[in-house]
Amino acid sequence: EKTITIDQIEQAAQEAFDETKSLSGGVNAHYIPYLANIDPGLFGISITLLNGKCINIGDTSYRFGIESVSKVPTAILVMRQQGPEVLLNKIGADATGLPFNSIFAILLENDHPSTPLVNAGAISACSMVLPAGDSAGKWKAIVDNITELCGSAPVLIEQLYESESATNFNNRAIAWLLKNYNRIYDDVNMSLDLYTRQCSLGITSAQLAVMAATIANNGVNPVSGKAVFDEAITPKITSLIATVGFYEHTGDWLYTSGIPAKSGVGGGVIGVLPGVMGISAFAPPLDEAGNSVKAQAVMKSFVNKLELGIFNGN
Ligand code: GLU
Repeated sequence: EKTITIDQIEQAAQEAFDETKSLSGGVNAHYIPYLANIDPGLFGISITLLNGKCINIGDTSYRFGIESVSKVPTAILVMRQQGPEVLLNKIGADATGLPFNSIFAILLENDHPSTPLVNAGAISACSMVLPAGDSAGKWKAIVDNITELCGSAPVLIEQLYESESATNFNNRAIAWLLKNYNRIYDDVNMSLDLYTRQCSLGITSAQLAVMAATIANNGVNPVSGKAVFDEAITPKITSLIATVGFYEHTGDWLYTSGIPAKSGVGGGVIGVLPGVMGISAFAPPLDEAGNSVKAQAVMKSFVNKLELGIFNGN
């Protein structure tokens, strides 16, 4: 067990930020105008330690689209409501090795969506959220869960929600294919709409670092002190994140960074080091798999400086 001081953590974070801040490369998500038009120069890293201390460098209070990072809290919510076993049986926990929006995620394994952290499984997860059949009740459960994990509320970005809803044809196809294979457990359009809306929530990297730290801290939010979920969920959600968090680049990411992390096309990433800390980084330009170029670079640099990767055996 090695001891790292808060000073060392702050210094490593600042160095990682300075080293990566002028990196170019990548482009904003361009499939909808809202994301395409975000300032590509925005950049921040946030770290929340398990004693509640928060370190924020750069644009960490800028509210951006949570997008696919929202798949993590909703998978947690399904486990809170129905347990990890039900999630495994109804959705699965396997890597897909496929892009986020692949319809093949459904067809890979016996008509199974494979994991709640790709679009197919995430739409399926939204269909599982309780109370069944109650769109407003389900939405409240989704938002309340995120609020508890972050210790503060997300805010819906209406303009993002409107453009996502008007252009989500691929996700509509996924939803109906899931229905065909009996992997949608509530109304199809309601489930798809909940998924689209949760992707359109505005969040900051400061908030996401607290969420990641709550996961790292066995379900207890280290800032608010609230016990949000049962500790048995932490190894489950962390293994899901490690397996597929960067879509078809997940293996390369884990190999080079050693940190289970989940990205979103809004440019945000969360990283979970169980028992150690939660990290979030944000920068809009993405690589070809839809993962933020600078968020990956800063997080990797920070973790490698302190040798905090989970396979380092700290
Ligand atoms: N709203 C996006 C979609 O479902 C999220 C994709 C992502 O962040 O990877 O297409």
